[in-house]
Amino acid sequence: MNIKPSKIVCIGRSYAAHAKELGNAIPTRPVLFIKPSSTLATLEQGIVWNRDLGSCHYECELTLRVDRPLTNVTDPEQALAAVGAVTLGLDLTLRDLQSELKGKGEPWERSKAFDGACVLADWVDVSEVDLTCTQYELSINGEVRQQGNTALLLLSIAEMLCDMSQAFTLEAGDVVMTGTPAGVGALSSNDVLTMTLFTQSKEIVWQTKVL
Ligand code: ZN
Repeated sequence: MNIKPSKIVCIGRSYAAHAKELGNAIPTRPVLFIKPSSTLATLEQGIVWNRDLGSCHYECELTLRVDRPLTNVTDPEQALAAVGAVTLGLDLTLRDLQSELKGKGEPWERSKAFDGACVLADWVDVSEVDLTCTQYELSINGEVRQQGNTALLLLSIAEMLCDMSQAFTLEAGDVVMTGTPAGVGALSSNDVLTMTLFTQSKEIVWQTKVL
């Protein structure tokens, strides 16, 4: 399925260690936000942002493709059954601008919804992973910066999808970014980012770079 998603749904502070590193409280209700499909970029297109807007942080996230619509779902099994594929993605964030927006109580779109703010790797059939304990990693210039495991999520992926579907319908083709583990940081020109997804049988490695 290669249709353009109607939206990319993101969750903030889904890992306790990441909430802590940015000085945020652990939320009692998931923090949700949406990136438009105009944020999508491929690994080949690389990472591009307007330097006048300050720093751009990487957030490597396990990313899901929902292949069947979900509305007001309460059954975790039903929610999981709608996931068709997984990949790794970068929820790129203009951190200086986001801090300014947060301070003013303004929405985050200027910092999270710019063109190219969602870099996605290739889709992998969901049967290749166990979503309750999927491990992944981001290295920059050969140094490991982020290690994630969905077993450490504050809400399981099934619970997360139920919650999202109660806030708004997830349509077939929509993309869900499940939040970033600790270790976020600023990108520099020419950085090479290597994302590794550990499936049940192998490691899948993807690369992209900062232009
Ligand atoms: Zn994120």
